[in-house]
Amino acid sequence: MYDLTGGVRIGKFHSRLSSDAVHDYLPSLNADRISSGFVYYDASADDARLTLEVLETAVLRYGAIAANYTEAIGMNHDTSGNITSVTARSRIFNHAYDTDPTPVAATHIHAGASTPPTTPAEPSTSDTTTRADAPSHTPAEPSTSDTTTKKTSSATLTSEQGDGQIEFEIRAKVIINATGAWVDAIQSLDSNHHQHTVRPAKGVHISFDTSKLPLKAAGVLPVKSDRRNIFIIPWDDAPYAYVGTTDTDWDGSIDDPQCTPDDITYLLDAVNHYLDTPLHSTDITATWAGVRPLLNKEHHNNKQARTADLSRHHSVVDSESGLITVTGGKLTTYRKMAKDAVDRAISHLHSTDAVTQRSHTKNIRIIGSEDPSALQELRQDTTQALLGLSPETATHLINRYGTNTPALIDLADSYPGSLEPIVPQMPYLIIEVIWAVQREMACTVEDILARRMRMSFMDTAATRQAAATISNILAAAWNRDIADVQRDVELFTRSLQDQNVSL
Ligand SMILES: Cc1cc2nc3c(=O)[nH]c(=O)nc-3n(C[C@H](O)[C@H](O)[C@H](O)COP(=O)(O)OP(=O)(O)OC[C@H]3O[C@@H](n4cnc5c(N)ncnc54)[C@H](O)[C@@H]3O)c2cc1C
Repeated sequence: MYDLTGGVRIGKFHSRLSSDAVHDYLPSLNADRISSGFVYYDASADDARLTLEVLETAVLRYGAIAANYTEAIGMNHDTSGNITSVTARSRIFNHAYDTDPTPVAATHIHAGASTPPTTPAEPSTSDTTTRADAPSHTPAEPSTSDTTTKKTSSATLTSEQGDGQIEFEIRAKVIINATGAWVDAIQSLDSNHHQHTVRPAKGVHISFDTSKLPLKAAGVLPVKSDRRNIFIIPWDDAPYAYVGTTDTDWDGSIDDPQCTPDDITYLLDAVNHYLDTPLHSTDITATWAGVRPLLNKEHHNNKQARTADLSRHHSVVDSESGLITVTGGKLTTYRKMAKDAVDRAISHLHSTDAVTQRSHTKNIRIIGSEDPSALQELRQDTTQALLGLSPETATHLINRYGTNTPALIDLADSYPGSLEPIVPQMPYLIIEVIWAVQREMACTVEDILARRMRMSFMDTAATRQAAATISNILAAAWNRDIADVQRDVELFTRSLQDQNVSL
C-alpha cells in the first residue's frame, strides 16, 4: 500500500531487510531480538508548519479571513429553522480594543499581510486593520468570497463585556463545522442534541534525547502484549526522538487529555522489549497527549470495538438546519476532507446561486512550496552561502519555511542577533519568534513554543528556559506589560507541569 501511496512517486519500493540492516537503521534495538525487517517509504510533515502554511495560503491567495482565539458559542436560525449565523466570542488581548473597540475581531484577524513590517521599533500586529497592506474590508464586516467571488459572510459586533471579551455574530450562507474532536459540542449548539459522531481516542507520546534513543529512521514495532504497533520516530528538527502512540478510549475532557503513569508504563514496556539498553521514566524529556476524532458511525452498536480498529475515514454530514459537519480522517487526508466539505458547501449554494465550480484543492500548492525550482535552488550550498547561513541553519529554516526563508532572513536584518538560537540545545531561532508574532498571529508563549514550534513536545526543561527568554520579545511585540507576559509564562509553565505530571 505504501508503495502505491508514496514509494512510486519517489521511485522507491519496500524491501526486506536482514537483521544487520535493521540494526543499521535502528541502532538502539537489541540485535538478538531482530530476525529481519521491512523498509518502506512514508511521508513526514511538521504538522505545525503544514497547518499554518495552509491557513496562510487561504488568507493570502484566496481572501480567507482567519480569526485566532475566537470561539463559536451559539448557532442562530431563521423562523424555518435554517442556520443563518454563528455567535462567536473572542477571548484574548482585551487591551487591544482600547483605542477603537468597533473593529471587533481586528486583533485576531490576520487579513492579508503579504509583507511583514520590518521596523524593529514597531513590530506589533495588534491592530491589523491599520496595516497598509491589510485589505479594505474592516473586521466589523469581514467578508469572505466563495469561488464565484460573491460575498457569502459578514460579521457584526453584538456585545462587549466588562472583562473585555467581545461577542459578535457571523452571518453566512453556508456554515461548516470542522472542529475535529469537538464537532459534537458544536452540533449540539445547532440542535440541542449531542450526536456522538465521534468516539474520542487518546494518543500519548513520550520523548527522549537521541543519546538515549538513537535512530536513523522511524521504526514500527509490534507490541508484545497486544495486537497494536508503536512507532519510534526521530524528530526532524532537533536531537530528540519519540515513542508512541497509545490508542485508547478517552471519556475525559477533550480539552485536557492526560498522559497517565499507566500510559508511560505501557509505552516503556513496549519499547524496552526491543532495546539493548532499556529506557526509564527518568530519561523522558517530555510527554504529550492528544485526542483523535475517530468516527463512531458504523460502530454505534459495537462499544467493544477497540479504538485502534475504528475507521480513520472521514464523514461529511448535513444537519436538518443545514450545518455541514466534517470530521474523522487524518492529517494525511486533509485535502480530501477539505474537498468533500467544500463540495458539499457548494452544493448548498447551488439552490440559491448559480455556483457550478468544485473545490480545486488538489491543484493548489501551499505557500513555501509554490515554486519547486526556487525551493531546489535554496537547497544549493552556493545560495545558502549567499544568504550567509550555515548549512545547519539553512536546512532548519528551509525545512520549516521553504521559499519564505529569504523573507525571514530579510526580517532578521532588522533585528541584530536574531539568527541566534532561543536556547542552545534547540535549533529554533529568535527570528522565528518575531516571524510568528508578525506573520502568524502568535499571541502567547504557548502559541510559539507549542503551536508554531514543537519544542514543548521535545523537552520540557528547554521549553521553560525558552519561555523566559522570549517573554520580553512578546511584551515588546504586542506592546504588553512585561508583568502581564510573565503571568503568561507562569500559566504556560504550570500547564507544562500538568502535561508532564507523571514524570
Ligand atoms: C496522538 C495523535 C497522533 C496522530 N497521528 C497522526 C498521524 O501520524 N498521521 C495523521 O495523518 N494523523 C494523525 N493524527 C490525527 C490528526 O492529528 C487529526 O486527524 C487532525 O488533527 C484532525 O484535524 P481537524 O482539523 O479535523 O481537527 P483539529 O486539528 O482538532 O482542529 C479542530 C479545531 O477546532 C477548534 N475548535 C474546537 N471548538 C471550537 C469552537 N467552539 N469554536 C471555534 N473553534 C473550535 C479547536 O481549537 C481546533 O483548533 C493524530 C492524532 C493524535 C491525537
